[in-house]
Amino acid sequence: EIEIRGLHKSFGDNEVLRGIDLEVATGEVVCVIGPSGSGKSTLLRCVNLLEEPTRGQVFVGGTEVTDLDVDIDAVRRRIGMVFQQFNLFPHVTVTENLTLPQRRVLGRAKGHAARVARDNLERVGLADKADAYPAQLSGGQQQRVAIARALAMGPEVMLFDEPTSALDPELVGDVLAVMRMLAAEGMTMMVVTHEMSFAREVADRVVFMDEGRIVEEGPAAQVVGEPRHARTRHFLTRIL
Ligand code: ATP
Ligand code: MG
Repeated sequence: EIEIRGLHKSFGDNEVLRGIDLEVATGEVVCVIGPSGSGKSTLLRCVNLLEEPTRGQVFVGGTEVTDLDVDIDAVRRRIGMVFQQFNLFPHVTVTENLTLPQRRVLGRAKGHAARVARDNLERVGLADKADAYPAQLSGGQQQRVAIARALAMGPEVMLFDEPTSALDPELVGDVLAVMRMLAAEGMTMMVVTHEMSFAREVADRVVFMDEGRIVEEGPAAQVVGEPRHARTRHFLTRIL
């Protein structure tokens, strides 16, 4: 599970996170919504230490990742992250995109890494693209490879930062279907998204952020369907 306590993050004088407290239980799916610049990406990036928090603590699976003595690489191995831009390695095949990080970071033998790659490509429905190069795939297929690559590392939690925002509308569904499958399998997930139908359907909880704070959180049906705060309502009327 993920536990965030009193998290602050500033860039110079810009206080981007102003005291975030949030728990994501094992197997829970939390969607994070909010206007541009509210700190959603920064929050996810602080969880896997792509950004160093200014103040506060983050725990993943009971280990304090913000502890200065912690092995950052060991922590990152337990946290899968998928970005808006797929960031696949362009010059190697789909299979190699999955095997190289396993071999380099986890030190897995070739055969082991290849088996894990095949299994995860199957999970995202792309076993037939194993030998293709990223440029030969659609955006939606590339994003599913990016998810499979993260899964191949055997993460305890998955963080998604607007995974469908860069996709043509007709490709969004396949990516959301993979995320829905992961949720059903019990993966612990934090998902920044503007896909309100996904949030309503899949999220156990929705968190609305504005100006570096959590303004409102609760079950998706409540936060999206009957928001309590004016700022949440204002945000939702703009995006729905
Ligand atoms: P969006 O919906 O547009 O993705 P967001 O909610 O993800 O927005 P963040 O990307 O977390 O917002 O950015 C929050 C604020 O932090 C913004 O004002 C941004 O300019 C600032 N910021 C983010 N990263 C950095 C950085 N590396 N250096 C300086 N400022 C940053
Ligand atoms: Mg963002």
